[in-house]
Amino acid sequence: MNELQAKSPKQFVDDMFENDKVKALILYILCMWGMDPVQGGVGYLIPLYINRASNYRLVIHGSHVLTAALTRDFMQHGGKIYSPYGIERIGIEDGRATGVQLSGGPFLEAKVGVISTIDPRQTFLNLVGEKHLDEDFVESTKGWLWEHWGLLGIHLCLLEAPQFNSAKNNPDVAKALIHVLGYESADDFISHQEMIAAGNFDDRAGFNCCFPTIHDPSQAPVNKHTGIISCMAPFNLNGNDGQWVKYKFKEEIAWKLIDKLAKYAPNITEKVVRDLYVSTPKDIANKFLDMVMGSIKQGQYHPLQMGYLRPNEYCSTHRSPIKNLYMGGACTYPGGTVLLGSGYLAADAVCEENGLKKWWQEPDYVKAARQKGYF
Ligand SMILES: Cc1cc2nc3c(=O)[nH]c(=O)nc-3n(C[C@H](O)[C@H](O)[C@H](O)COP(=O)(O)OP(=O)(O)OC[C@H]3O[C@@H](n4cnc5c(N)ncnc54)[C@H](O)[C@@H]3O)c2cc1C
Repeated sequence: MNELQAKSPKQFVDDMFENDKVKALILYILCMWGMDPVQGGVGYLIPLYINRASNYRLVIHGSHVLTAALTRDFMQHGGKIYSPYGIERIGIEDGRATGVQLSGGPFLEAKVGVISTIDPRQTFLNLVGEKHLDEDFVESTKGWLWEHWGLLGIHLCLLEAPQFNSAKNNPDVAKALIHVLGYESADDFISHQEMIAAGNFDDRAGFNCCFPTIHDPSQAPVNKHTGIISCMAPFNLNGNDGQWVKYKFKEEIAWKLIDKLAKYAPNITEKVVRDLYVSTPKDIANKFLDMVMGSIKQGQYHPLQMGYLRPNEYCSTHRSPIKNLYMGGACTYPGGTVLLGSGYLAADAVCEENGLKKWWQEPDYVKAARQKGYF
């Protein structure tokens, strides 16, 4: 692991693989959730992402089922959701969090503590307020880094399933959950990154795509299909961000990517695409308040924002400099994507700090890792 630590994803694929296409694939799967291909220092994430890419999961009936199940469980255990309200501030008295003031709504008094699952800037600078914080802490929070890219998503209603050319030689291709297309070499992926860094969007963009109904037919009418193209794209588009929210522009870009898909699966033409919906990094930032600049994990995976520094040395154990205020979002360990780990560890911290009995068991894989002496 120490050996990997200093390596950038690009160095890793160059050291480990010979074939250009394999290099391109592995580099893509290492970087699609936020590693920078040429930055060293967070190489310990490499095994995590290889594991993730080889253990993808799809929620039967769609991802919304997971949030609906969590909501139901929360309410069954006495939880209440105040979704129409925003949050005005976190109440602080004598350095302790006392509750949450809803905008235009009641003050919710905290019996045990407040858990914030949003980013450190909003939590501390907007909701806690600088006057309750140490100057150095405020400075470091102001320096929190977002990202320069987000996801361009093209959601497809298809009248038939894609028929990939390569499935003629290898029928397993038709069963793949994720297809990575548009890169013939690691350099093609790096070139896509350079395009993003320059704030452009052009033909260099490759992407991943998934056709959920091949694995879960319940998500569309009989014999019809869904698809999603997911493409890394700049948040700021050549100084002309306005374009990213204009439907005509988004649709034109979407068709360029669908045409690229058709090079690999020629039946995906205008005749087969019944409808589509396009969402850009700008749309993500507009929809999710904590996904600032379209960051899908509440802030960059930069070496200075990882491990015991995510989001900073005071909050990486899910506690914070404010007593009774806990942190439980993707800006904390283990980071973004739907791992549910940050919330789990925040709940652990609340119980441990307050001497409460946990009503859940440690997962078996954590027990196994503990027995093997990994921590
Ligand atoms: C298009 C897209 C595709 C993705 N695909 C995948 C995928 O396939 N697999 C995967 O694992 N991950 C995926 N991700 C990443 C994943 O969704 C996120 O990393 C994850 O949701 C982060 O979880 P979280 O609980 O920290 O934050 P969130 O899920 O963002 O939850 C934070 C909540 O807080 C609310 N909020 C924010 N600010 C405030 C405020 N000031 N006041 C009140 N409420 C507020 C937000 O509305 C949101 O409901 C994707 C993300 C995007 C955008």
